[in-house]
Amino acid sequence: MKDKNNDSESTNREKVEAMKLEIALKLGTIFGRNLEDASKEQMYRATASVLRDRIMQQWAYSKEKVNKTDGKELYYLSMEFLMGRFFDNFIMNLMLQEDVTTACSELGIELKELQDIEPDPGLGNGGLGRLAACFLDSLATLGYVGHGNGIRFEYGLFKQKIADGYQIELPDSWLEHGNIWEVAKPEEPEIVNFGGELEKKMVDGRLIVEQKNCYRIKAIPYDMPVVGYNSGVTNTLRLWGARSTKHLNMGLFGRGQYMDAIEEKELAEVISKILYPDDNHVEGKSLRLKQQYFFVSASIQSIIRKYKKNGNDVRELPDKVVIHINDTHPGLAIPELMRILMDDEGLGWTEAWSITSKIFAYTNHTILPEALEKWKVDMFKELLPRVYEIIHEINERFCKVLWERYPEQWDKITEMAIISYHEIHMAKLCIVGSFSLNGVAKLHSEILKETVFNDFYDIYPEKFKSITNGVTHRRFLLKANPGLSKLITSSIGDEWIKDASRLKELESFAKDKGFQEALAKTRLINKEALAHDIMSQLGIKVDTSSIFDVHVKRLHEYKRQLLNVLHIMHLYNRLKENPDLEMHPRTFIFSGKAAPGYHRAKLIIKLIHSVAEKVNHDTSIQDKLKVVFLENYCVSLAEKIIPATDVSEQISTAGKEASGTGNMKFMLNGALTIGTLDGANVEMSELVGDDNIFIFGLTIDQVDEYWRQGNYHPYKLYEGNPNLKQILDQLLEGFFNQEESHLFNEIYQDLLYGDGSRGDTYYLLKDFQPYCDAHGLIDKTYGNKSAWWEKSIINIANGGYFSSDRTIEEYSEKIWHLPKHNFEQKM
Ligand SMILES: *Cc1c(COP(=O)(O)O)cnc(C)c1O
Repeated sequence: MKDKNNDSESTNREKVEAMKLEIALKLGTIFGRNLEDASKEQMYRATASVLRDRIMQQWAYSKEKVNKTDGKELYYLSMEFLMGRFFDNFIMNLMLQEDVTTACSELGIELKELQDIEPDPGLGNGGLGRLAACFLDSLATLGYVGHGNGIRFEYGLFKQKIADGYQIELPDSWLEHGNIWEVAKPEEPEIVNFGGELEKKMVDGRLIVEQKNCYRIKAIPYDMPVVGYNSGVTNTLRLWGARSTKHLNMGLFGRGQYMDAIEEKELAEVISKILYPDDNHVEGKSLRLKQQYFFVSASIQSIIRKYKKNGNDVRELPDKVVIHINDTHPGLAIPELMRILMDDEGLGWTEAWSITSKIFAYTNHTILPEALEKWKVDMFKELLPRVYEIIHEINERFCKVLWERYPEQWDKITEMAIISYHEIHMAKLCIVGSFSLNGVAKLHSEILKETVFNDFYDIYPEKFKSITNGVTHRRFLLKANPGLSKLITSSIGDEWIKDASRLKELESFAKDKGFQEALAKTRLINKEALAHDIMSQLGIKVDTSSIFDVHVKRLHEYKRQLLNVLHIMHLYNRLKENPDLEMHPRTFIFSGKAAPGYHRAKLIIKLIHSVAEKVNHDTSIQDKLKVVFLENYCVSLAEKIIPATDVSEQISTAGKEASGTGNMKFMLNGALTIGTLDGANVEMSELVGDDNIFIFGLTIDQVDEYWRQGNYHPYKLYEGNPNLKQILDQLLEGFFNQEESHLFNEIYQDLLYGDGSRGDTYYLLKDFQPYCDAHGLIDKTYGNKSAWWEKSIINIANGGYFSSDRTIEEYSEKIWHLPKHNFEQKM
């Protein structure tokens, strides 16, 4: 045993020495610097290049192995991939944590400092994009070949700054210093056509369709490796960048034409310039449609090209390829594959459709009506004439089927048609064109079957599935919370890292005083680190023995940050009444971006700041309340906040949050949840039991009942509850913002003078008192330390279910049917 230890110590030493040497060499070859005069940025790039060399080898090795097996592959099409930083994730997944940490520290720099240099690419808005990123991690880790396809946005989601309590948006130019992890392949472009006219002719009895006078755009692949945790499979995230097909030719062009040529180049490249900053909201702009078709067309073309390169027959495509469409944004992949099979491969409609309808699987992410995609036929037809024709034909044939089933029921057929009232309904196209449709949590999938897509469920019951979302517990627990991870491993071993269901074994430690104390200690250390960041960013001193109560996610009315604020105002009023009120001190932490055009969400950010300003500076409440807003919520900030959280706020109006994934990250880190019976909260509460989660508020059935009856009367709630009345009156009086006292009037008006179809649409007033009561119970529970930590342990132990590894296994079993590869990491 001792010898073995010595052995591994000496090989570690060799590995560390080799790494130090490599880093020093890179400094020389890349920057012409040595260790003494290198900047931090140069150290980062040198260290990253050392990792990159290893990853490239691993990637090539994985491709070679996979090619030999010739098994089925998955392509995951998504407008968004919210990947987070790569550097520290690669180090973790390559199992190089110790080696790199030691090497760096012996070279005189802390690994942490290097990590913070890498930009955090914001190529997504929130949950949907982060889900795609978690899936890629789990796919590679579990040994599945599943590649991502998306857009290489030059500008990701805006950087959020707060000035005078207001959100300011700044561009996120994440590529400014280059992207060390990508491999550009300008020699493998795909051409994407827009506009023009269709020319049809009959050749040998076959209809040939050609697109003439199109606007042609080049799609350049930029490939990034997706390294699994201690896995031999390295997959590819392929992001497409738009380029002009025209070259600038100074010899041929006169001065004016030269400038025109440059302008045209700019116009082409605008397609992959910037991510639309809307979460759960559609933008019916033609540029958005161009973005979607651009990346979908390039992806499908390159999938077919790769498939055919191996001499395969397109008729057997469904045996070798499955394509997943993440929400309807990549839904044009369906008619695009039809187009290629017919126009390029020469198949007839029936054969092309028989292939296409076996390839695609679609995930629905939301039922909010403002997020369901529709395209105006006129705009669509002009931009994508051939694709429009194909969708039109899909619709004609689908309506024929409907007619046979529901003869003469025109209303029903119009209701279900893919094209109606001069609009193309993307969700309907996706349901008809896919062999599988799934919701992202049990409750959400039921809503799809019973209400939103009930008509389609009648026709295609076999397509409907439910797969509850998950998150990669390696990024959000193992990496983000090293203290807790060590504690877990020392208690149950390290198998949980690749098999999160093993976390269940922690349940036997739930009452263990030693474990509880150790857990409390790791939490305190994480809170101290966050308190330090809060101090240096905002100059606010927070008490690390207070309850850290955290609400971080996109700012959206349905997520009800406003309800949280109302509760804080309520607590403040109680403390003003009675400064000796018995209550454990609380620190309320918010973070989240509002869409730039979403006035109400931005006003709520201002309200949070106004309340914070008043509360934080009022010495009479003896530091019992603090309110903090951390700017620029992103993956790397989430990784800092979540491990320091005591209470996780998941308080959406029941029926509005399809699943949520933030809720899962908190649970895995041992925060206790205060939440509604919405999305995956329902399953969380089933797993831990009512005693270990703070559930409150209207159920979805109660919300629906109000909606149907039209008998919601918020004004009565206001009149009947003096605490609530006080708060709302304070909004009207400008109590929290004396200089601009009218600022929040519109919130007051909306909350009070509505009936549920307008006004207090999200039932804040109805849920206010139950929410306050749930918080009261939290305060009481926190007083009993051992009860609190017991609940926390039970949450961690049951959080394993929400690993995206479990989610991916379910997708593979129920939808994709992928072979699992089991080759070793080549390190
Ligand atoms: C997990 C995550 C989200 C999703 O959070 P929800 O609470 O499910 O809305 C959004 N943004 C980032 C940066 C995340 O990491």
